Amino acid sequence: MTLDNILEEIKKAETIVILTHETPDGDAIGSSLAMKIALKQLGKNADIIIPRYSRTFGFLPDAKEIKSESKNARYDLAISVDCADLKRLAGAEYFESAKIKIQIDHHSINTMFGDYNFVNPVAPACCEILLGMFEYFGIEITLELGTCIITGIITDTGGFQYAGVTADTFEFAAELLQKGVNISNVYQKVLTTRTKANFELSRIVSNRMEFFEDGKVTFTYMNLEDEKSVGAEEGDHEGLVNIGRDIEGVEVSIFIREKEGTNGYKVSLRSKEYANVADVALMLGGGGHVKAAGCFVQGTVEEVKEKVLSEIKKVLK
Ligand code: 5GP
Ligand code: MN
Repeated sequence: MTLDNILEEIKKAETIVILTHETPDGDAIGSSLAMKIALKQLGKNADIIIPRYSRTFGFLPDAKEIKSESKNARYDLAISVDCADLKRLAGAEYFESAKIKIQIDHHSINTMFGDYNFVNPVAPACCEILLGMFEYFGIEITLELGTCIITGIITDTGGFQYAGVTADTFEFAAELLQKGVNISNVYQKVLTTRTKANFELSRIVSNRMEFFEDGKVTFTYMNLEDEKSVGAEEGDHEGLVNIGRDIEGVEVSIFIREKEGTNGYKVSLRSKEYANVADVALMLGGGGHVKAAGCFVQGTVEEVKEKVLSEIKKVLK
């Protein structure tokens, strides 16, 4: 079974690197840190390489041990968490050069790019998969480990609100609560608290919000200039795509942000009830989940808007 193989490879490896997707969210960071803490219990000191991440997650146990790069050219083992394909993996070169490659994920469109692939598309968060895996390995779920895990569960479920949440999710949360994990504190830090720059950006994108398809679709955008004007840092755009989605009658929200060094925009898509935005993103060369997906599209704001809108029309009832 894959899980036994994974444990065996971990035990054999002398040097291990942990990697995750670019513009990492709470599930990506939480999964990476949880993996590092779990490996420590198995007597392994792994490197986590994440070039850039939001300071929102700086409070997490072991966050200060995250490295932006490494001098080790070839690790014995590379573990990718929460990433659907190699193209999106930050530090993919460390993965490609590693002797053994493991990847653990919950995206249904995962491309199975590891030697060992442990993918559960039904899990609402990669952190939820890890919790089950660690228990199988006999790893003790400590306060530190639990704090990282609940972070991924809270962020990827929008605070237990999305349809992917199951009875298991609440049972895991209850278990973590019993171990002393401060769910209320993590919830506040990663979900409700916003940076000043994020608030200023929300004013800008709210003012620009346009409605299409009888109010079923919203569109808004952000340029590099906007980010500069509010002193935005890594991660300060998080959650802006939800502003449109959360409006009454809206099914799909589109939020695009200019990507530095390109002539295009990073597109974020969210749906509320029935539209499959993963299909839309796939058509545009990206991917994601049914209700949260993304891609990159070349062009001006108007060009990107038209391109995305015409694909979205196809998935609206
Ligand atoms: P976000 O809108 O938060 O950037 O991304 C939402 C989800 O869409 C992510 O969890 C990820 O699964 C997916 N996603 C976003 N951008 C891309 C992309 O460029 N390529 C692929 N394959 N997936 C993406
Ligand atoms: Mn995830």
